[in-house]
Amino acid sequence: MGLFDKKYCDICGAKIGLLGNRKLADGNMCKNCASLISPWMTDRKEQTVAEMADHLAYRSVNKDALRNFQVSDVLGYNYYKLYINRAEGTWFITSHQNYVDANPDILSFNQVTGCEIDIHESKRELYAKTSDNRMVSYNPPEYDYDYDFYVTVYVTGFFNNVMKFKLNTGTIEDMYSPQYKELESLVYNIKNVFDQMAQGADGSNLVVPEQLVIDSFTRQQMQRESNMYKDMRRRRMEAFEYALRTPGAPAPGPGYNRPTPGPAVSGPANRPPQPTPAGRPAQPGPHPGPRPHGNGFRPDNR
Ligand SMILES: [Zn+2]
Repeated sequence: MGLFDKKYCDICGAKIGLLGNRKLADGNMCKNCASLISPWMTDRKEQTVAEMADHLAYRSVNKDALRNFQVSDVLGYNYYKLYINRAEGTWFITSHQNYVDANPDILSFNQVTGCEIDIHESKRELYAKTSDNRMVSYNPPEYDYDYDFYVTVYVTGFFNNVMKFKLNTGTIEDMYSPQYKELESLVYNIKNVFDQMAQGADGSNLVVPEQLVIDSFTRQQMQRESNMYKDMRRRRMEAFEYALRTPGAPAPGPGYNRPTPGPAVSGPANRPPQPTPAGRPAQPGPHPGPRPHGNGFRPDNR
């Protein structure tokens, strides 16, 4: 077979351009047809032409069903969201606003067999630069943290038995931030919903927990506090860098250290929300109660 032999798509018959071929077990497929495959199918090259034709027929039916999908509940943040149709006992997950175009696969409640969550911590040490350009650890060491919130749902009767998705996009740097608290609550709520499905819940008895939304007043307080700790860290680092560049300067004191976040959670983390670490200064909860001069608050209601 020569390098420039013309190939044709065994699904739609179109001519396949240079580098446009997507191989199947017993044939070829064009890029356009391949774009219609479910994102959860990971073994395209092992599919026969007949199996792929069946799959794309199913995908077309799925897309039509999405147009009529009655959304009863949505659980999500700013990336992948879980959409539920209680009337039909079905659900799907997608990161797209226009979900009909994205064509996420619709599954039934009773296809769910289990769920695991992972609040994944990545920790990166920060280094100071000496005058001769060496990188040295701060004393005590300083770190940047990033947190990502993952859900893994186990399903049956689907061409992939494991569906792992992420709830956040962008970086969550502070476990005391409003974003972290909201995502932490959300990830447990989603696990709760999938666990109910795995235990046989249907649309009539599924309980969808209310999503935690931190109000703007508390959000601002938490953000201020978060910025304050970042500022303390920056000053601590600057003092260390100054001492590093200045022979004979007194070593900087330890300053105020924020309590270190708990141990990294890797792998399945099906634990209840952790209590605030000891030593953490008092912090307002998500519901501070009525504000003295808030809109509509009338303490003197005669
Ligand atoms: Zn094609």
